[in-house]
Amino acid sequence: MRMRAMVFERNVELRSLNTLALPAIAARLVTIVAARQLPELRRYAEFQARRRLVLGGGSNVVLTGDFDGLVLRVAMAGRHLAGEDADAWYVRSYAGENWHEFVSWTLQQGWPGLENLSLIPGTVGAAPVQNIGAYGLELGERLHSLEAYDLVGGELVGFDRASCRFGYRDSRFKQEGWHLQGRYVVVSVTFRLPKNWLPVIHYAELGAELEGLGIKSPNARQIADAVMAIRRRKLPDPALIPNAGSFFQNPVVDLSTANRLSALHSDLPRHAQGDGLVKLAAGWLIERAGWKGRDLGAAGMFEKQALVLVNRGVACGRDVLALAQAVQADVKKRFGVVLKPEPVFV
Ligand code: NAP
Repeated sequence: MRMRAMVFERNVELRSLNTLALPAIAARLVTIVAARQLPELRRYAEFQARRRLVLGGGSNVVLTGDFDGLVLRVAMAGRHLAGEDADAWYVRSYAGENWHEFVSWTLQQGWPGLENLSLIPGTVGAAPVQNIGAYGLELGERLHSLEAYDLVGGELVGFDRASCRFGYRDSRFKQEGWHLQGRYVVVSVTFRLPKNWLPVIHYAELGAELEGLGIKSPNARQIADAVMAIRRRKLPDPALIPNAGSFFQNPVVDLSTANRLSALHSDLPRHAQGDGLVKLAAGWLIERAGWKGRDLGAAGMFEKQALVLVNRGVACGRDVLALAQAVQADVKKRFGVVLKPEPVFV
């Protein structure tokens, strides 16, 4: 079958393609719906653009202005059981699938393991880039392998879990900025979902939610429902109030810094990380610095969860940048702690 020519759209408004709803014009945009288009893409003059950006669900980017290069919009769909052994189901999804719909589908099939990550916005392909995590579970714990197409080398490359170099909301894909360079496009991700599944319910809020429902030994579906209920109460729906989830990473500090802060603030939330490191709650620091529910221009920090930066309607990338910097400066002044943004700035 002969492949249709690639369509390179010109001057595309990206507002509806990023969950912060920031306005930005992309000089060129191509939508990838099948992996076989990727080798083809390299033959086109448009591919030689000075800059390329790989865009999934747009839930982890801050578009600071127009993009004068080529945006590769990843929309490859499909998901299936790729294999099974005595210990696990191996479930594969193409990169353009919506993350939450994929999680719900695995649960409907009776394959538990991703329930704590319910309702996180974005696509399956973008999820490993920042090693999404919530309620005590990180994607890296369930990932078996992924396939990405190297647009520069012109080949499909496989990455096992170790070679993804996952860290706290981090991976080699993020560290090496491949999505910003438009080099590797994640094509599919395979998850290893354990048959000897155990619930992960040690986060206090999740435990309390289940207890409130009278559930002592929850199944995966019940955990997913509890996570969704908590998230719906605390987090804004990007379709109604544009946002990019947690805007800052929780800072990890050394023990002496944590102890110094605890001496000044007896209610400081802290979580030991091992190696003498302590994770602090960025949302708590932001709230105590006076930013919960406060706006700067057309952007603000959400009233129910101070860690989420929201677009109040007409914010542009510069507004987001100004607010992020103001919050960082106040937290630094008050606590001496540097907050790092979770999304990437383009
Ligand atoms: P929270 O309950 O207000 O707690 C603040 C922070 O404390 C959390 O971010 C969490 O870190 C940490 N924490 C709480 N209990 C912990 C425990 N038992 N062990 C270790 N660390 C613990 O948190 P929240 O803001 O409502 O978020 C709840 C969960 O959803 C968190 O896991 C958060 O990461 C996740 N979430 C993620 C996004 C995103 O965009 N990535 C957005 C919203 C919520 P961790 O963040 O390391 O888990």
